[in-house]
Amino acid sequence: MQHPENDEKYASLQVNAGVGSQPSVNPYLKKIRRKPLPPVSELVDGIIKGDMTILSRAVTLVESINPDHYALAQEVIEKCLPYSGKSRRIGITGVPGAGKSTSIDVFGLHVIRNGGKLAVLAIDPSSERTKGSILGDKTRMEKLSLQEDAFIRPSPSAGSLGGVARKTRETIVLCEAAGYDNIFVETVGVGQSETAVHSMVDFFLLIQLAGTGDELQGIKRGIMEMADGIVINKADGDNIARAQLAQAQFKSALHLFPPTDSGWQPEVLTYSGYYELGIPEVWNMIDRYFDFVKANGYFERKRNQQARYWMYETIDNRLRQHFYDDPDIAAMLAERERLVLSNRLSSFIAARDVLDFYFKH
Ligand code: GDP
Repeated sequence: MQHPENDEKYASLQVNAGVGSQPSVNPYLKKIRRKPLPPVSELVDGIIKGDMTILSRAVTLVESINPDHYALAQEVIEKCLPYSGKSRRIGITGVPGAGKSTSIDVFGLHVIRNGGKLAVLAIDPSSERTKGSILGDKTRMEKLSLQEDAFIRPSPSAGSLGGVARKTRETIVLCEAAGYDNIFVETVGVGQSETAVHSMVDFFLLIQLAGTGDELQGIKRGIMEMADGIVINKADGDNIARAQLAQAQFKSALHLFPPTDSGWQPEVLTYSGYYELGIPEVWNMIDRYFDFVKANGYFERKRNQQARYWMYETIDNRLRQHFYDDPDIAAMLAERERLVLSNRLSSFIAARDVLDFYFKH
């Protein structure tokens, strides 16, 4: 029998006729265009009325890397400032798995049930690298995300820790102007971001877990020193005794620390976020702290210090940005860096040259 491949018309590779272009699935669909930005006065009015959609848009402006948006955001912030400042700003930190989202969910509900309004913000500098925020995500706080009186916003994702922190600091102003009287700033307890959060909150809560006897090992001393309250989560079931042991250990460790600037003696409590045990007690501690620091003047003093800190921090950031964004400087830096790396120029002379050029330029 003749083999088909011997037929001269046979081709092992052939191109089939393609499919013609398909009609649009939805012929009415037009290119989606973003709504134009409302004028500043409209944004400010919306924020002050507590309109969550407008607040979200304003926060997006704060987070934008577009210089026009930045300028607009600054105007909005300035107009919101007189309406801000009246909230309780609470920083919450803990290592991944400590139970931050579970706890924020129940702490938040507690606040709302007592008539408060709550904004949950986050500082997560790692989100730039992982291209996704692991903190302050709505889906992590299931109960809270259904509440009208809760505004949950993930960490700004662009740039350095300094940049991310500044944006969160500015977002606090907008949330306060929108009537949120409790602001949680969440951060993952593994590094530098605690210091940034500490610089913008009134109360700093450290969530800990009872471990296997060496609880104090993994915690950076600096983070413990910043805490106004240490709460040991997952004090439920057969973990209660271990949580209590950890509580005793933390208490005795805190005694070795120097007295705090506020005069407040940090407290250590146990609770269970999952089973909602001990939540009012944690909140009662926070209430007492606010009464204490408002009475002794520390509250105002710390807010003033933070305001000063953010002024200089913003100047530092803008100066640095102005310097590095300059294309002439960028070119000169690249060239000097090559010389430094090949040992033909000292680091200090290279730096002096570039700075001299910048100041004359
Ligand atoms: P985060 O990474 O700090 O936000 O921690 P999560 O809130 O996601 O909690 C990490 C895990 O611990 C989850 O599986 C929670 O269900 C569990 N968890 C959180 N709080 C408690 C608690 O109070 N008791 C117990 N037993 N488990 C908890």
